[in-house]
Amino acid sequence: MRIIERIAALRPELLEARRRGTPIALVPTMGFLHEGHLSLIDEARRHAGFVAMSVFVNPLQFGPHEDFARYPRDLEGDAAKAERRGVDLLFAPPVEEMYQSERTVVVTPLALADRWEGAARPGHFTGVLTIVAKLLNIVQPQVAVFGQKDIQQAMLIRSMVRELDFPVRIVIAPTVREPDGLAMSSRNAYLSTEDRRRGLVLWRTLRAIADAFESGQYDAVELEQLGWEILFTEPEVSVDYLAIVDPHRLEPVAVAEQGTIVAIAARVGTTRLIDNLLLGTT
Ligand code: AMP
Repeated sequence: MRIIERIAALRPELLEARRRGTPIALVPTMGFLHEGHLSLIDEARRHAGFVAMSVFVNPLQFGPHEDFARYPRDLEGDAAKAERRGVDLLFAPPVEEMYQSERTVVVTPLALADRWEGAARPGHFTGVLTIVAKLLNIVQPQVAVFGQKDIQQAMLIRSMVRELDFPVRIVIAPTVREPDGLAMSSRNAYLSTEDRRRGLVLWRTLRAIADAFESGQYDAVELEQLGWEILFTEPEVSVDYLAIVDPHRLEPVAVAEQGTIVAIAARVGTTRLIDNLLLGTT
């Protein structure tokens, strides 16, 4: 596996694959890789003969009071994991390679970005779309793989690609969980044993809502009420939102149906956790 830090050095590495007509897939990440990230490599491999992964902690998507400086980093460990999983090329640029000069252009999404994660993290999705647009232009893959774990992000990236005519297919891969249900996340590394236990309430809530739906409860108000009852059992967990929404515009629904999204964001101690589930698909 080649590890590349510079855009200029990346292009010749990709030329050979392009010349052979081998489809290229890109898996963008912020590193500190876990099994969730690695499952995206497997998914990428199903679509492409050449798999590139990027590791870049993108300052533009962090708010001024968020965890950019302390975000966990381990490039050496990431490189070993990526190589073992079959990545062909790891792109790990320093910040100054991606943001060289004063910014005059960013990619800012419209209304879909104002709710849920966008409301809790102003400017976050501008940072995400700007870096993803840059990575797609730098690598020019045929396929890019993202996780359902960050479902609003995945949907906004799909919208960007469609509306701005990026010639790439966006694939969304399912969320990988710990055996007890906690969605894998680099930020789980922040959790104390006690906070980690508390954080399981997100999965318990999603499961309970999914079970009620399976048993014939489709009234979103009832489902939400059930969810809050479970969330309230962990008073130390501070909930940002519990949303039961349609999978296109992420607007709250009155009646849940197959494919309706249930999404939760909550803070446990100083760690912010998000998780979601598609009803009728588990
Ligand atoms: P991040 O490094 O957190 O920016 O995540 C990089 C990519 O991995 C994003 O597309 C995430 O949605 C995806 N991802 C993060 N956690 C998981 C997980 N537990 N299962 C599947 N994909 C994930």
